Amino acid sequence: MVAIGGKGQTPELVDGPGWSRPGLHVAAGRYPLSVERHVARMVDHLVPGVTTQTPHGRYYALHGLIAAQADGEDLTVPAAQTLLRRAEVALAAVSFAHHPQALDWLPRAHGVDALARRLHSGTVTMSEAEAPGKNGYVGNSWGFWAPYAGSEVALGILGAGPMPVPGPRLETAALRAGLGGLLELAAEDTLNVDDLAPFGDRLCVCVGGEHPDGAWLANLLCEPGAPAEAGSRSATRRQTIQLLARVVATHPVRYFTATSAMCSLSATS
Ligand SMILES: [Zn+2]
Repeated sequence: MVAIGGKGQTPELVDGPGWSRPGLHVAAGRYPLSVERHVARMVDHLVPGVTTQTPHGRYYALHGLIAAQADGEDLTVPAAQTLLRRAEVALAAVSFAHHPQALDWLPRAHGVDALARRLHSGTVTMSEAEAPGKNGYVGNSWGFWAPYAGSEVALGILGAGPMPVPGPRLETAALRAGLGGLLELAAEDTLNVDDLAPFGDRLCVCVGGEHPDGAWLANLLCEPGAPAEAGSRSATRRQTIQLLARVVATHPVRYFTATSAMCSLSATS
């Protein structure tokens, strides 16, 4: 039960959100207030290339790496899809091995929930796990690429097209240095969760910021050395990130993913 009402008004008590169907069995997203389109527009205006659909930065690098690999090996679309899905399964398995209990500050890697039974059993058979459909880690042939694709093209990581192709700002060397080991795991027939623990510090979704792919992504988003063309999308993105960094420096922020939006509001009010 919550009290609502503006300043000077008598608060009214509301029992539960009447604008959303009750029940835990509703699996689809709930957007009863229809604000998500407006939020996405603001994000596109203020931090173009950042997505509101996922908190995971490391998939930008993973999809870039897949694009580079597919381009280098001249892969067909089905072969590129399989490589991408196998790499995402490997990322999910390594991330689960790194912390079997969910972290406070970062949701699990994509597909971990769907793979939970296999991960807890200790063995993931790649050909079963990567097959799109009811029994695999994902329903889509392109794995979890879709929520990232627009942002990856906007940032120049990928070129536009029906499959991931290298964009003008892809730096294959940084991606291989950071995430290259994942392709070797993706090529395995079977992943044993216990054997994956040593890879966690290098390949987990939670450690991208400490590795070359994270430095590349940070540089790409912030462009610290670029000329400040007033009004350009990259200048706007840099200024927004500077504002957020300033907020973090001046406000107590324990988990950036959970706290920063509230801090931004209080800092600008
Ligand atoms: Zn981790």
